[in-house]
Amino acid sequence: MQSSITNPKDVAAGPAGQQDVVIAINNAIAARIGQQKFHIWFRHSTQIMVTDECIKVSVPNLFALRWIEGRFSSHIRQAASSVLGGDRQITFVIDAGLTPPQAGLGTTIQRLSERKRTESRLSSGSAATQAKPSQAARLTLDNFVVSRGNQLAYTAARAVIDEPKGPFNPLFIHGGYGLGKTHLLQGICNAVQKIRPCTRWQYMSAEDFVNQFVLALKTKKLEAFRNRIRQLELLAIDDIHFLAGKPSTQEEFLHTFNAIDLAGRQIVLVSDAHPTMISQFSDKLASRFISGMVVKITPPDFAARCRICRQYADAVKAHVPEQVINYIAEHLKDNVRQLEGAMLKLIAFSSLQGKKVDTEMAHEVAAEHLARTDPIVHISDIESAVAAYFGVTSSEMHSPRKDKTVTLARHFSMYLARKHTSMSSSELGRFMGGKNHATVLLACRKIEQLISRNSQLSWHGPAGNKVSTARLVLAHLEEAVAS
Ligand code: ADP
Ligand code: MG
Repeated sequence: MQSSITNPKDVAAGPAGQQDVVIAINNAIAARIGQQKFHIWFRHSTQIMVTDECIKVSVPNLFALRWIEGRFSSHIRQAASSVLGGDRQITFVIDAGLTPPQAGLGTTIQRLSERKRTESRLSSGSAATQAKPSQAARLTLDNFVVSRGNQLAYTAARAVIDEPKGPFNPLFIHGGYGLGKTHLLQGICNAVQKIRPCTRWQYMSAEDFVNQFVLALKTKKLEAFRNRIRQLELLAIDDIHFLAGKPSTQEEFLHTFNAIDLAGRQIVLVSDAHPTMISQFSDKLASRFISGMVVKITPPDFAARCRICRQYADAVKAHVPEQVINYIAEHLKDNVRQLEGAMLKLIAFSSLQGKKVDTEMAHEVAAEHLARTDPIVHISDIESAVAAYFGVTSSEMHSPRKDKTVTLARHFSMYLARKHTSMSSSELGRFMGGKNHATVLLACRKIEQLISRNSQLSWHGPAGNKVSTARLVLAHLEEAVAS
């Protein structure tokens, strides 16, 4: 019989003789379940890998996972122990690259493969995450710079990585835009994958959770969705504040949370605000979140900013003098994304102009990132960013129309224009279609209020109804304006 190992990386990673061991296990499985079933369910559809702690069985989709796990796991276990001696844990992983079980060998199989197709569509998020963790969670802790502002979060993350039944459940990390929350969360997943490769983990954004939940509802596949999520040993959800104002998803998530927590498994959540500060978040959910470990990330200090810049330059093999790094780190203090943006620009400038990176260049780049009255940001840049985001046109923003989406877009435009251009409020008022300066100031104050409360905003965007928080909207717009 042929070995089902097809992934050269696994062969290379495994001990010598791994291939023979796998062939022997496959033979033993075939002997137990019969050639026909083996042919249908194993020959091309599974890939067995033996590690020190477990037997990892990769299967092509959720349907095959359920079927093979449900019917054959004891056969796999016994076959493995007959070859290896001792009992090892069997872990199933979805690898979308494998061939699905053969269909057409009778009506039962055909019917089943119909189901399989619909189920695998639902599970594709998880399949992708499990099979290619490097794509879904590409950031690792190897290049995460630890400083006072993120030390506690980092230590808690390490505890989650090191202990499967760690003391913090959930671990809830919150902090401002661009401070490394996503980096840390993906870093946890990648480290777990490396240290305990058999762990069933999933990294997903809260938006993915909402979308998958809604799809499951629509296609009447709620059970499959629940089973898939609730069997995870580590669930990592990014930007959980996205659930604000979505009571039914919050309710669903509460049950998910309870199920995973009850099973003694780990949940890590990331948000832009403390659980109790997320508006339109159910009290029940918030109190569950604060029952674990809540840690805040604050901006990096000067030394950490220098290390981040140095690391960035080294990663792209660019020569950036110490003085330049110090200058950038001294002037750009708000967040890491901004630092990285400046370094990127600096390095791009120098290579485009064929000049070495020098302090003069650094002054230019930093000034661009810093300036409140930035000559490079023009009102038209702001308007086009805002218009694209909210799905309205500039002329709608200049018109007297008062519907929610247009008003929100107009107010954000005014706020950003006051912040980033040198236009006075009277000039801006005239530009926005004959409005006076008091109207502009009022609009700015309104946005400031929304931001300070991080209120929930809803509007009708280009892709339908949208809901987000004020700070998140601002972050998106700022980024669009700066790029
Ligand atoms: P957030 O999710 O908090 O908005 P991200 O995790 O997306 O922020 O971080 C923004 C960028 O800054 C990413 O490219 C990330 O790799 C980088 N970054 C953030 N914090 C750190 C850190 N402590 N060390 C190294 N890089 C960092
Ligand atoms: Mg993020």
